[in-house]
Amino acid sequence: MTTRRQFIQSLPALAVPAHFLTGEGTAEARQPAPLKGHFHPKGKAPSKFTIEVLRQARAQLPFADKRDFDEQKKGFLAPMKDLQIKADAGHVAWDMERFQFLEKQDDFDSIHPSLLRQAVLNNNYGLYEVVPGIYQVRGFDLANITFVRGKTGWIAFDVMVSAETVRAAWKLLQEHVGKGLPVTAVVYSHTHGDHWGGVRGLVKEEDVRAGKVAVIAPDGFLEHTISENVYAGNAMNRRLFYQYGLLLPASAYGFVDMALGKGVSAGATGLIAPTRLVTKAIEEFEVDGVRMVFQNTPNTEAPREMNTYLPDLKALWMAENVTAVQHNVYTLRGAPVRDPLNWSKHIAETLHRFGVEAEVMFASHHWPRWGNGRVQEVLRAQRDLYAHLNNQVLHFANQGVTINEIHNVYRMPKTLQQQWHCRGYHGSPENNSRGVIQRFLGYWDGNPVNLLPAPASESAPLYVEMMGGAEKILARGRELYDQGKYLLAQEIVNKLVQAEPGNQAAKDLLADNFEQVGYQQENVGLRNSFLAAAYELRSGIPQGETADSSSPDVIRAMSTELFLNFLAIRMDSRKAEGMRFTINLVTPDNGEKFLVELENATLTNIKGFQAAKPDLTLTIKRTDLEQAMTGAKTLEALIADGTAKAEGDVSILKKLAGLMVDFDPRFSIMPGTQAREVKVEKADPYKAIPGKAVIE
Ligand SMILES: [Zn+2]
Repeated sequence: MTTRRQFIQSLPALAVPAHFLTGEGTAEARQPAPLKGHFHPKGKAPSKFTIEVLRQARAQLPFADKRDFDEQKKGFLAPMKDLQIKADAGHVAWDMERFQFLEKQDDFDSIHPSLLRQAVLNNNYGLYEVVPGIYQVRGFDLANITFVRGKTGWIAFDVMVSAETVRAAWKLLQEHVGKGLPVTAVVYSHTHGDHWGGVRGLVKEEDVRAGKVAVIAPDGFLEHTISENVYAGNAMNRRLFYQYGLLLPASAYGFVDMALGKGVSAGATGLIAPTRLVTKAIEEFEVDGVRMVFQNTPNTEAPREMNTYLPDLKALWMAENVTAVQHNVYTLRGAPVRDPLNWSKHIAETLHRFGVEAEVMFASHHWPRWGNGRVQEVLRAQRDLYAHLNNQVLHFANQGVTINEIHNVYRMPKTLQQQWHCRGYHGSPENNSRGVIQRFLGYWDGNPVNLLPAPASESAPLYVEMMGGAEKILARGRELYDQGKYLLAQEIVNKLVQAEPGNQAAKDLLADNFEQVGYQQENVGLRNSFLAAAYELRSGIPQGETADSSSPDVIRAMSTELFLNFLAIRMDSRKAEGMRFTINLVTPDNGEKFLVELENATLTNIKGFQAAKPDLTLTIKRTDLEQAMTGAKTLEALIADGTAKAEGDVSILKKLAGLMVDFDPRFSIMPGTQAREVKVEKADPYKAIPGKAVIE
């Protein structure tokens, strides 16, 4: 298993693919001189059509409303002087240097003006006062870290991704307002990794165990921190390369922003379990002398999330439920589609419970809103944003609009379109509207053709034949490209690429179309996905070995059942035909028992049951099983040294291990882009492999 950072670090010269240096290939030889300033030799300038799309956006959007810029700057106390933060491992964990180009020009003809606006706003970098007693360090990671002054120390709301960036933020706080006081509590607002991964940079586990530091989280936090990204984790990791443009250099022609922040830091990630869960819908208690009212908001932006109101300061913490973007109902990396109506209702409850009196609202991303009028304005619009998505999409669906058409039909109300924080920077109206239909009706549009579509490998060559062959498609595709009809051009050229994955001229033309579509997008997921696909069509998926590192903390948070469920997904059932066995797994230290059965080429487990006559009984403490799950020791070694007790046919374990597959995050998405050399380090077959902690 590869972390994204390791994958990226393993890449050869990222901007210039090796085959350009060697002059290999004929299609490349016909290319015009590279565009100055573009990171890719085949990169193209924005066309006049693209420039016109951006000009119209500039004319239609409310650029006169500059309140976000005022709010982003307000309370600025101290800049962070170092533009880079080093990881303990030696590499650069965080780099703001690469985004300074955004400040040097008012406009870029390859960046949507609204996205540029958000990208510049996200360039904030330093320590800010929200109100006396509440401070935020912004721009050190994807998310903010917020410090609330308690009676005896500091209460941190959310702790970013990496220990290194958190330490840098803590240092900055201490230099200016910290007064040398310690951390007395940490509040995890929700389950996404950009809100808890850096905790070990701020507090020591022994201090948490000794009761010196409280760690507070919404009910169900630990179960949901990784469950969202285990089963399809490898596929999600791969899709992150598109959604977040992980291979794209920071450039006006490449990566410019991640909507919620500039990017994800690449330092050490860890997790300390909460010591206090907020279990009621509304729960009030004091944290280090500060009165706090917690509002659980399950199944909103994350499976488990909570807002917090500080009544004595009239300050409202909105977690990630309300930030300065339209958020994802459907996230392109893949996740169960979120419930926008439930999300809206939770915002409505916040509004009527706390928003009617709050004087400041702050969140885990972006900047605060001051004044009750502004707080209410934003809460009301965000409430309506998600409710409207739900209601109007289903309104159309009930009149026959399908998942394949809704993005062309659904529009936000004009009053919401004119509010910057409702714009589709992170979630897009296009994908969110399709997501709502997916949630209620699934992928099928009702046309039987789409129930059993022919394989693309068979239908695409038929299309190519019927259209008169590759040359005709390329000629027509270029014509459409020259007319700025990129969506139509990509429709037909994609058929050719599907039919002829080795046709580099076709891949280059498709890439050119993708690039223009990418430049035109306000939404980062759309921009990055089109530009990432263009990159891979032009250069292929980068080669390079992958290495393995999952945070042991995260693996420990995995339940045994989740671990067994995922083993069943890793098993190649085609190799298990005819095999049959039963295993009793007992973990006496936590009192759990599982019956694991392989039959019908299917591995199942059921908690709380045991077979009367198992082929094998494996007894091991859960804490020792974790040694195998983290890869510290193999299961065989644990049996050999007596840590685990095996009764019965031990050879079953070896047979089962032989069925396990290690997933590689470099599978091709676009045809004909496979890396030339694919090596994956073989993981221990019983090592748990969660996907990288989900960030959002
Ligand atoms: Zn987040």
